[in-house]
Amino acid sequence: APDKEKTSNVAKIKVVVRKRPLNKKELAKNEEDIIETHFNSLTVHETKLKVDLTEYVEKHEFVFDAVLNEEVSNDEVYRETVEPIVPIIFQRTKATCFAYGQTGSGKTYTMKPLPLKASRDILRLMHHTYRNQGFQLFFSFFEIYGGKLFDLLNDRKKLCMREDGKQQVCIVGLQEYRVSEVETITELIEKGSAARSTGTTGANEESSRSHAILQLAIKRSGDGSGSKPARVVGKLSFIDLAGSERGADTTDNDRQTRMEGAEINKSLLALKECIRALDNDQGHIPFRGSKLTEVLRDSFVGDSRTVMISCISPSSGSCEHTLNTLRYADRVK
Ligand code: ADP
Ligand code: MG
Repeated sequence: APDKEKTSNVAKIKVVVRKRPLNKKELAKNEEDIIETHFNSLTVHETKLKVDLTEYVEKHEFVFDAVLNEEVSNDEVYRETVEPIVPIIFQRTKATCFAYGQTGSGKTYTMKPLPLKASRDILRLMHHTYRNQGFQLFFSFFEIYGGKLFDLLNDRKKLCMREDGKQQVCIVGLQEYRVSEVETITELIEKGSAARSTGTTGANEESSRSHAILQLAIKRSGDGSGSKPARVVGKLSFIDLAGSERGADTTDNDRQTRMEGAEINKSLLALKECIRALDNDQGHIPFRGSKLTEVLRDSFVGDSRTVMISCISPSSGSCEHTLNTLRYADRVK
């Protein structure tokens, strides 16, 4: 089919690393930038101690589809990651973009502008290339926290998930907004971001324990005229994942924190397995491993695309977490 040909030249899985600049706190502590970036590879310079306590540097080299250094703007990140997949969601493709990394590595900074830029391009295509063809854009935004779903656009209403037997995921009660203007998208992103788990301990602390899922769905009415109910054609999901270091909270003194840590650990492992299964074209994809992968089930079957943006801090103090993030990204690739 001609549609198949158009979509097949966009890579099924793309893994990109984004390095943020050293921040004021790190500079104040005299932490060094230990990440040397190249075109599509990077080297981590890890300082280690010998038994006699003298220092030596161990180098770790990684190769990815792209490495974006601290000078790369959010616009360039968009061009490198999401822009190429926008046109193909009009061709029955489901695409997902993840931001992975430790808390403070730049996931939200990277992720937040992407849906807006994508919507702008989607609306442009709808109003020009696909003018009068009955396409509609829908927006939803929810969160997975402690294995439960909450609607970020409807007072954190608790949601549940159902599967319709045709591998379509249905999140019961989730508010979906039909949008036709970029301004509305901006408002919805702000509203949803403000509703993320903030608890009492400060925004980044609690939001680091949740996965935020923003979805743009392209629908089309049965006959293109708008008289029949609209059906999903393609979907573009943006996932701001929980802080990867949270998966290690399984020995914390607090029971709640331990349980959340176990859930995060489970979901990040399941996600890795699902993406790997996609690449190997295995028949069996292990969705059942976690709430996150169950929710994303319909984005992993059929003609799907995955972009993983691994965010890293450049600082020596984050070396261990950075190596963990890069190893995870390496396994996904
Ligand atoms: P995370 O969501 O992974 O916890 P954030 O996106 O909140 O991390 O980023 C932590 C801090 O670093 C924020 O103050 C953010 O503005 C800043 N930051 C992150 N990435 C960049 C970047 N590429 N350039 C400049 N500042 C950044
Ligand atoms: Mg964040």
